[in-house]
Amino acid sequence: MIPAVLVIEDELPMRRVLRAALGGQGYRVWEAGTVEEGLAAFAARSPQVVLLDLGLPDGEGFDVVERIRDTSAVPIVVISARGDERDQVRALDGGANDYVTKPFREAELFARLRAALRGAARVSRHAETLTIGPLRIHCYERRVYMAHVEIDLTPTEYNLLHSLAREAGRVITHRQLLRQVWGPEFVEDVQYLRVFMKQLRQKLEPDPTKPQLLVTTPGVGYRLRPPD
Ligand code: CA
Repeated sequence: MIPAVLVIEDELPMRRVLRAALGGQGYRVWEAGTVEEGLAAFAARSPQVVLLDLGLPDGEGFDVVERIRDTSAVPIVVISARGDERDQVRALDGGANDYVTKPFREAELFARLRAALRGAARVSRHAETLTIGPLRIHCYERRVYMAHVEIDLTPTEYNLLHSLAREAGRVITHRQLLRQVWGPEFVEDVQYLRVFMKQLRQKLEPDPTKPQLLVTTPGVGYRLRPPD
């Protein structure tokens, strides 16, 4: 099936760029320019993915994320201005799946859209095995292999890696990781993440000072980057 994308963006030149790019890749495109139009189009069209600008004339993209999440788990990819880390964090914590920063390369946009659609297609978050390039995680046994060599992880290191791996390709915010791995009372304790991420990198990265797999998104969170 050809995936339909709902683009909610008020700037017409940007919409033209998106329409041409998405159409060129075979996506069907629906468009809206305001929060109200966006929610109406979402209800009427049931798109497979939503591409959402945060600054809209009658409200903020955050409101759209919140309203859509009341009823739907559809992937939402936010289009955000570069440097707005706080906005990115707010959108992701509010339930958006990913973001691309303006100005973006088309290849980057399509990679994020594909990752968002793949995530939605995954049957279960409790898969038996996760394979990301040379990394393999056996979830029931909680065993981790890198290029067929078993890696010995502590329970917390394993939980952190698993949280990133099951959403491989997308950035997970500090709060989301802290909540998932340590619990809701620890969402401010970013230093825990730094300590355990450093340990994970020492065990998994060929050069822990230049991480290729466990990548930092400054001010936002971490991403497990699948190999190209
Ligand atoms: Ca805008």
